[in-house]
Amino acid sequence: MSQNRAPMLTFIGGAGAVTGSKTLVDTTAGRILVDCGLFQGRKALRLQNWEPFPVPPESVDAVVLTHAHIDHCGYLPRLVRLGFAGPVYCTEGTQRLAGIVLPGSGHLHEEEAGYANRVGYSKHDPALPLYTRADAEASLSHLKVVPFGTPRTLLPGIDATWRRAGHILGASSIGLRLADGRARVVFSGDLGRSIHPLLLPPDPIGLADVIVTESTYGDEDHGEAEPEEVMAETISGTAQRGGVVIIPAFAVDRTEVVLWHLDRLAAAGRVPNLPVFVDSPMACRALDVYRAEARAGSPEIRPELHGKELFSAIQLTAVVSADDSKALNSRRGPMVIVSASGMATGGRVIHHLAHRLGDDRNAVMLVGFQAPGTRGDALLHGAHQLKMLGRYYPIRANVVSIDLSTHADRTELLDWLRTASPKPHQVYVNHGETEASAALVNAIDEHLGMNAVAAQPGERVRLDRPAERGAP
Ligand SMILES: [Zn+2]
Repeated sequence: MSQNRAPMLTFIGGAGAVTGSKTLVDTTAGRILVDCGLFQGRKALRLQNWEPFPVPPESVDAVVLTHAHIDHCGYLPRLVRLGFAGPVYCTEGTQRLAGIVLPGSGHLHEEEAGYANRVGYSKHDPALPLYTRADAEASLSHLKVVPFGTPRTLLPGIDATWRRAGHILGASSIGLRLADGRARVVFSGDLGRSIHPLLLPPDPIGLADVIVTESTYGDEDHGEAEPEEVMAETISGTAQRGGVVIIPAFAVDRTEVVLWHLDRLAAAGRVPNLPVFVDSPMACRALDVYRAEARAGSPEIRPELHGKELFSAIQLTAVVSADDSKALNSRRGPMVIVSASGMATGGRVIHHLAHRLGDDRNAVMLVGFQAPGTRGDALLHGAHQLKMLGRYYPIRANVVSIDLSTHADRTELLDWLRTASPKPHQVYVNHGETEASAALVNAIDEHLGMNAVAAQPGERVRLDRPAERGAP
């Protein structure tokens, strides 16, 4: 096989960063894009969403998605708008959740462009959205559902198999079997944790010549903290003071994990059974999906929850309309409000924080990683005031932090890689900040004796087995 016929892999996004996950696989059979994520976070990263796609979008034959987080699927409406016309394969859970998050993302882009036009800060005149809600809805018609564990032929000469990743509902690792070079390539997607209370843990890898693994927590372990102790203490203490517990939480999956713990504590009588409000339209819709999947006995949900009504021990109210959300302001505690976004960078939780932070009867419970520079990070580090909606608010509420992350840590990433048998020829480490990826590369080398390197943005590598390389 000559070099230019070898199957190739190109890291477009998600290399040296935790967002914008996109990897191209080129074979003689055609071109597959693995994940189609949006760059998020710092402005320099977000601007990359506006750069031309590195290959003509119409030259991509199919997209495969690992899961419905925006940093893995949020560029899809843009790709379709730019001319991609092929199928997008994903699991049923991913299809359902993408149906919630992509239109929401389109709406946000439209709002941002509208705001830029009012304030007049855009370089474009008028400012344009990256894509609209209508673009997002159009892109959903490309989704095709695949089951877990059964190979699906994407193109003659390329099969794909989705395996559980235990990260959010629908989340999977994807294994590609390429006739070219007889190579098997496994993409981890985002890996979950075996302690996820609702989802089954990641499936083993099995056969793989090449593995592309995420490294979000490649340089740290989550630790053994007992989140329910802190939760119980905080909720009971706040209830005694007649206060309100505000929990900023990501709309998809993290909200369900928070509710699962609240439900368990209430059922065991460890906390008073307070009213719990989930205030985020997106979270409410995702909640319906999780509940339906548990009732229906989805193969991703832990068997002990099959046929059950989730969160039935708590007095749960889903708050969808903006009026009902505002009405919470005049409601007296004790109560719990779970609202997005998880790092208080935007969303309805901002209004609740602005309204409740100044009262020392109240509490804020942070439930995951808080990126530097976010309001969540300022709260975590003991800020005395917080800027929201154009003004500063004093912080007198009790702020606590627990770790409910469902993202695999360093040890769990290594445990998953260990399930590859025999050892892969090569591991590429992507989807992590530079230090996290470098740390995981070292750990893979030291603990597993596998060849590992950090993927570089834009880098192209061969996927065929080394033994089959032609003359140089
Ligand atoms: Zn994810």
